[in-house]
Amino acid sequence: MMSNKTYDVIIIGAGSVGTPMAMSLAEKGISVLCLDSASSAGQGNNKCAIGGTRATHTEPAKVTLALRSLEVFRTWEEIHGESIGWYQGGYTYVAYDEDTISLFRRNVPLQRNAGLNINLVSPSEIEELVPGINTNGLLGGTWSPEDGSASPMLCCYAFYRRAAELGAEFGFNETVQRFNIDKEKVVSVITEKGTYSCGAVVNCAGSSAVEAGRMAEAELPVYPDCHEAGITEPVERLFDPMVVDIRKAPGSANYYFYQHETGQIVFCITPDPPVPGTSIEETSGFLPLVAPRMVNLYPRLANLKVRRVWRGVYPMTPDGSPILDRCGPSNHYIAVGMCGQGFMLAPGIGELMSRLLTDELNGKDREVLHELRLDRQFSSEEALK
Ligand SMILES: Cc1cc2nc3c(=O)[nH]c(=O)nc-3n(C[C@H](O)[C@H](O)[C@H](O)COP(=O)(O)OP(=O)(O)OC[C@H]3O[C@@H](n4cnc5c(N)ncnc54)[C@H](O)[C@@H]3O)c2cc1C
Repeated sequence: MMSNKTYDVIIIGAGSVGTPMAMSLAEKGISVLCLDSASSAGQGNNKCAIGGTRATHTEPAKVTLALRSLEVFRTWEEIHGESIGWYQGGYTYVAYDEDTISLFRRNVPLQRNAGLNINLVSPSEIEELVPGINTNGLLGGTWSPEDGSASPMLCCYAFYRRAAELGAEFGFNETVQRFNIDKEKVVSVITEKGTYSCGAVVNCAGSSAVEAGRMAEAELPVYPDCHEAGITEPVERLFDPMVVDIRKAPGSANYYFYQHETGQIVFCITPDPPVPGTSIEETSGFLPLVAPRMVNLYPRLANLKVRRVWRGVYPMTPDGSPILDRCGPSNHYIAVGMCGQGFMLAPGIGELMSRLLTDELNGKDREVLHELRLDRQFSSEEALK
C-alpha cells in the first residue's frame, strides 16, 4: 500500500458493516480505502455470526434497515450470479407464557406498521412450521416468512469483491493507529504502513469501536460482551425457520437455532448475566447451558452430535440498537454498536451511510438516523434485541 494517497472516505474495519459500506460508496464513484488489521475481509466478529437475517425487530429504524438488507441478500445471487448461502426459512418466535404472548400481541401491529410481513400464529400453525416442537404449554407465537439466513463469510467476500471491482481499495494486515486532526477535521489516517489523506473517515471497528473512537476524542457507549454458538452434524431437513425462544432461564436469556441449508443445526444462546469483555476462548459452560433448553423445546435434537462451538463478541449499546452518526471532528462518522445484529443490518447501513456521506439523504433516512443518533437517551431496551 502506498503512503500519502488521498481518498474521499477511509473506513476503519472491513467487517460485516465496513465491507458493504465500501461497496455502496464505490457504487457512487466515491474513492474509498477500507483498512483492517486482519488478513482479509470479515475476519472479526463477522465470521462468528450464525447468519440469521431478520427484519423482525421492534424499533422502526431497525425494521427499515433490515428490510433493505433482506432485499440485498434475497436478490444477490440473481443480480450477481454468485451464491451467498441465502435461505428464506422465515423466523418464528415462540411463546410458552402469558408475558411473552402478550408482548408479541403488542409488537405485531407496530411491526406490521413499520412494513414487516409478520403474523401472530396459533400453536398448531407453529407445529406445522416446526414439526416435532414441544407443544406442552405452547401458547402461539409470531411468523415472519421473509426472514432467513445467509453465510456471513460468503456475503462479506461477495461485498468485498464487488467493492474492489468498482475501485474500492482495501488494506489488510494494517491497523489504524491514530489520526492527524487539523481545524476540527481528520486530515489523515495513520497505520503502521502509511499515512493516508482523507475527506472523511468512518469508524466501523466493531468490538474495537471505543478505541477507534478515542482517536477522534469521541467516547462511544459500546460495551463488548461474549456470546457462544455451535453447529451439529448434518441431518435430513427437520424444519425451515429460525426458532427463537426469548424466555429467561437460570444463566441465560434468549436462545435461537435454525437448520442450515446443508442440514446442520446452528445455535446460539445469550448468557444472563452478560459476560463482558472480548475473550474469544470457548467455555465448558456453553453446551450444558444451551443443550437442555433446545432439547426441551425440540426433542428431536436429543441425539444430534455437536461438531464445533465458537465464541465471539457482540458490540453492545445500552439499548440494543446501533449508533449511526457523525461526531467529534466534522468529517468523522460512526457506524458502531451493532450488538447481535450487525450482519443482518449491514447492507442497509452501508447504503444509508453512503447517502449520509454524499449528502443524498431522503426523509426516511433522516428518521432512521434520528432514531439511531449518538445523543439519544438510551433509556429503553429493544424487546427483541
Ligand atoms: C456467536 C455470535 C452469533 C452471532 N449471530 C449473528 C446473526 O445471526 N446475525 C447477525 O446479524 N449478527 C450476529 N452476530 C453479531 C455480528 O457478528 C456483529 O454484530 C457484527 O459482526 C458486527 O459487525 P462490525 O462490522 O461492527 O464488526 P466486525 O465484523 O467485527 O468488523 C470490525 C472490523 O474492524 C477491524 N478493526 C478494528 N479496529 C481496527 C483498527 N484500529 N484498524 C484496522 N482495523 C480495525 C477488525 O479487525 C474487524 O475486522 C453474532 C455474533 C456472535 C458473537
